[in-house]
Amino acid sequence: MIRSYWIETYGCQMNIAESNALELQLKGAGLVPAKTAEEADCAILNTCSVRKSAENRVWGRLGLFAHIKTLHPLTLIVTGCMAQRLQEDLKDEAPQVDYVLGTNDKHKILEVLVSPESAELRTEAYSFGTSYYHEGEYSSYIPIMNGCNNFCSYCIVPYVRGREVSRPVEEILEEVRFLDAQGVKEITLLGQNVNSYHYEEDGSVLTFPSLLEKVCSVAVNIEWIRFESPHPKDFSDDLIKVIKEQEKVAKHLHIPMQSGNTRILGLMNRKYTRERFLTLVETIKREIPDATFATDVMVGFPSETEEEYQDTITALDQMGCIEAFMYYFNPREGTAAVSFPAEVSEEERGRRLTDLIAFQHKIFVREKTKRTHGLAKVVVNAVSRNDKKQMLGRTEHNEMVVFDGSFAVGSIVTVRLTGLKGNTYTGTVEN
Ligand code: SF4
Repeated sequence: MIRSYWIETYGCQMNIAESNALELQLKGAGLVPAKTAEEADCAILNTCSVRKSAENRVWGRLGLFAHIKTLHPLTLIVTGCMAQRLQEDLKDEAPQVDYVLGTNDKHKILEVLVSPESAELRTEAYSFGTSYYHEGEYSSYIPIMNGCNNFCSYCIVPYVRGREVSRPVEEILEEVRFLDAQGVKEITLLGQNVNSYHYEEDGSVLTFPSLLEKVCSVAVNIEWIRFESPHPKDFSDDLIKVIKEQEKVAKHLHIPMQSGNTRILGLMNRKYTRERFLTLVETIKREIPDATFATDVMVGFPSETEEEYQDTITALDQMGCIEAFMYYFNPREGTAAVSFPAEVSEEERGRRLTDLIAFQHKIFVREKTKRTHGLAKVVVNAVSRNDKKQMLGRTEHNEMVVFDGSFAVGSIVTVRLTGLKGNTYTGTVEN
């Protein structure tokens, strides 16, 4: 009899959201969370395939679970992208795994645990959960689409998540209403290519800008509405207009650039040029002057020259991000770029990344300093680990702020930003 569960989640926000949905299902069926992996009756590894290192960590964990299974009965399930990509390898090389359920089969986990004999393990399409709420949290993810049609040449996601599927609009709005009633303060609409949301019903089509407007119209207590990750090619003028006009849409935009060089963007199959990307950034800056940016950047793509790498540096300078997720190209088995010629040596990739991080640090300081001394609404996150009389919070622009006081986690306070210590603002509460 399975009474307790253990979930390990690897990878992206979508996996975190899907694990939340699964946990709600398990709790709803009367299961309880185990205190440790060793005590659980069932363990579920929700895996990621984006990087080889994420898969290696799971292979390592499977060794531990094989040992636990020698001590007491345990049902072991591997789900998510690695289960999708390496289904046969897992079945052959990890006999301790009882079920390997790919990305489209995650919703079958409860059935597998409760009535394994009748569970139908093959499904055709991705299915969304009813809710992705994690009890007690003031910040929640809402998956609105899954999959990707873009096939960037370095990315495994379209192969493991499949083609794009959009969640019915009424289900999304229902979840927003539910979260609003739970006291959630910020929501993040999620999708691998979130702004290509496209839902058809009764002959009419709803696209992402209209969905965002609808979400704003039903959010009463929710303070900020975010979305992750948009594709630059789908970032339309209509979307900019909605972000500008709707107060609840957080004015902090994560727009993955990847490279600032048009030839490399072509090899990456990103479907935009340097000029088009920078024009988009300039349009947003003009229309929404208080917007801040985050981005993703990859250096050392096969055949990238020093000059092309410098194009990325100048584009980053122009964009002026306050957050950047930077990495170097790592060939991913199963993607087109794995066989691209003229690989940049690992040493050179490392050098470019180190220089990029140092350069971007100066940009963080430049951009954040501009905003010091201003007022910011802050959602209280936690008590500071360094000083129990201080609290940590996050602004609309996703920046950490530390300030004196004692406030409930999840409450909103107005803070004057007084300085910058590393990446964190210091501030004083004004309300
Ligand atoms: S848009 Fe490109 S990088 Fe993003 S998930 Fe799709 S293929 Fe991967």
